[in-house]
Amino acid sequence: MAKRDIEIKYKQIFINNEFVPAKSGKTFPVINPANKQIIAEVAEGDKADIDAAVAAAKKAFARNSEWRKMDPSGRSKLIYKLADLIERDQEILGILECLEVGKPIGSAKQEAFGAAHSLRHYGEWCDKYFGETFQAPGNMVSMTRKEPVGVVGQIIPWNGPLAMLAWKWGPALAAGCTIVLKPAESTPLGALHIASLVKEVGFPPGVINVVPGYGHTAGAAISSHMDINKVAFTGSVGVGKKIMEAAAASNLKRVTLELGGKSPLIVCEDFDVNTAAVMCHNFICANSGQICVAPSRVFVHESIHDAFVAKLVAQAKARKVGDPFEPGVQQGPQVNEAMYKRVLGYIEAGKKEGAKLEVGGNPIGDKGYFIEPTVFTNVTDDMKIAKEEIFGPVQCVFKFKTMEEVIERANNTTYGLAAGILTKDINKAMTFANAVEAGSVWVNSYMAFNLSAPFGGYKQSGIGRENGRYGLENYLETKTITMNINPVN
Ligand code: NAD
Repeated sequence: MAKRDIEIKYKQIFINNEFVPAKSGKTFPVINPANKQIIAEVAEGDKADIDAAVAAAKKAFARNSEWRKMDPSGRSKLIYKLADLIERDQEILGILECLEVGKPIGSAKQEAFGAAHSLRHYGEWCDKYFGETFQAPGNMVSMTRKEPVGVVGQIIPWNGPLAMLAWKWGPALAAGCTIVLKPAESTPLGALHIASLVKEVGFPPGVINVVPGYGHTAGAAISSHMDINKVAFTGSVGVGKKIMEAAAASNLKRVTLELGGKSPLIVCEDFDVNTAAVMCHNFICANSGQICVAPSRVFVHESIHDAFVAKLVAQAKARKVGDPFEPGVQQGPQVNEAMYKRVLGYIEAGKKEGAKLEVGGNPIGDKGYFIEPTVFTNVTDDMKIAKEEIFGPVQCVFKFKTMEEVIERANNTTYGLAAGILTKDINKAMTFANAVEAGSVWVNSYMAFNLSAPFGGYKQSGIGRENGRYGLENYLETKTITMNINPVN
């Protein structure tokens, strides 16, 4: 059994490198989804606390501040040091993530390591972006300068809180911005521990601020704030739309959105059925199905459909679901009561609409929010479970005959985050990869993230891209300076 007893040290709002209570004095409970018990009471930030955090971030971003005058190499050093401390505290962060998300302890620790890794990726970028010069008529020359966009608000979800924090902080810090982050209300503890590391690293006060709180209060205060220049959001489509509206109605702050998905994975007849079933099972059930790119629509060629389903069902039956601290457990609970009820609601809808429940479909006990790995077949494209994001361990399997048909059906969705194809045929692979309307396409792999390569959604899956150079661009303004190089005087 992995160690699980840990003192929760950081439960307050982090502003100007200090932990402070909420101005209202309020707190909210963080619940362990594996046993429904309260892990900690955390300060509940709202508009007043966001205002204080933004004021700190604005001061840290002022012209001639320590942060603005710092060389890129100085920023790089701080980012690297933060990554090192996250790695040093991998065990603590893993335990916190296991407690608040319900993620199996091994993958929770792995996520902490991944967060350090992605920060290091951006530690490299601090001095690797450049302006250009342009031909101009006469004695004129134009050049561009890349400048930090300023104070940024970042709102992240609960399904990968450490990874999401690092994906947001890396490019913002590399660009020289200052940050107000609001973690999800279900999962503020990992972010607050990392906030303590910010101080230990020695970032100037106000460069990074973390305000736990609810979305409709603290989150909404970020998206409508007049002194925030950009908001970066990961979460649901509904909230993404609200954020865009608030950004437009306030100060037209820049907006990037990473939203949901209903990603198709195509299994062709030439691909090994067993490998395909193992992959589809693992990727839909990873993190209890709570991953935005989860392959939630699996299209299987009709000639191998039945053999594939038999193997998928065997996988689902063999999956070890339970206490995420137990070694060997592959799946913990859903993150909270609302998500648990939502997933069970979709399972009921699937049954009612006539899909065939092959395996699973039930809650496991009542101690925590556990749900059996579930497989539906005979799913038709118009069913609720075929169209809407379930965000649970629920696989919907569809049959297809031809590539033309499957491309059409794969694209028949309002989402466009990710897609995949399993085939030995390069023509099929490239035909699908070119035709599918999705920001990431995996061929003979799935969920293989590359920190250098852009990630983001087509259609209602989002706006903008994260990671690598593309991610950095979102935190930069481009200024054109045009100069007369032969002045008259
Ligand atoms: P959510 O949109 O309800 O919450 C996400 C964050 O937004 C939380 O921090 C929440 O407090 C905040 N929020 C809620 N209401 C707000 C408001 N009115 N103004 C500002 N902020 C507000 O999402 P959820 O249901 O908790 O998370 C699951 C969703 O997130 C799924 O749809 C999933 O696909 C998506 N997601 C997407 C990605 C991606 O990279 N594309 C990654 C993870 C999760």
